[in-house]
Amino acid sequence: MASTLEERIQLVEERIKNACERSGRSRNEIQIIAVTKYVSLDTTKAVFEKGLRHLGENRWQVAQAKWEAISGSIVQETDEQPIWHFIGSLQTNKVKDVIGKFTYMHSLDRLSLAEAIDKRASQLGIVVPCFIQVNVSGEDSKQGLEPEQLFPFVEQLKRFTSIKPIGLMTMAPYEAEPEQTRTVFRALRELRDELQQRPAHPHTITHLSMGMSNDFDVAIEEGATWIRLGTILVGKEEE
Ligand SMILES: *Cc1c(COP(=O)(O)O)cnc(C)c1O
Repeated sequence: MASTLEERIQLVEERIKNACERSGRSRNEIQIIAVTKYVSLDTTKAVFEKGLRHLGENRWQVAQAKWEAISGSIVQETDEQPIWHFIGSLQTNKVKDVIGKFTYMHSLDRLSLAEAIDKRASQLGIVVPCFIQVNVSGEDSKQGLEPEQLFPFVEQLKRFTSIKPIGLMTMAPYEAEPEQTRTVFRALRELRDELQQRPAHPHTITHLSMGMSNDFDVAIEEGATWIRLGTILVGKEEE
């Protein structure tokens, strides 16, 4: 692995560019979420200062100190701020901690969670852009709706006026050979395409949050619009 943050950013950019070329896509269709869950506050700040504005965390307990230090103190409104993405599974009782601090939710996977997010968001007077997490691979260890549950779930989301579903999210199984993740990413894209063709469904569901350190090239080739990169980009620090 390249050693400095700058080198890693360059390496990732190179691979994104190549994946775009292979699939006839344009670089500006893809946004990077720098997943900072494995690194310290200082590294998180450094990542943001290098121009990576979108930061991802998967647990409030881990994120809290970083969020408070970077975004929680009194700041000038003109100061540039990171945009936080919550990418982990979320317990309903943690919703009050996270909503209002994290702009995007990537792990909406059940009605009870939608209800809690909607309630909190409406108290705060905000609308929360959410990705619906789908367990395409069917692995027991993965969160998310079964693909068959997606369409009825989207239908039920309509009553939550403080939730804006903007896309689908999935995690592929870790494969030694990343090419083997392709069917998972392709299936998520097809679900999105199918949703969009249903006139009754919201056309706001356009994004695909998919691809991690091990498999983002393949995810981009299959249509990812948000990739979530931890180890390869931000690094991983021992506790
Ligand atoms: C940790 C995590 C990532 C980033 O993982 P890497 O393999 O280190 O890039 C992406 N998405 C989710 C949901 C995660 O929990």
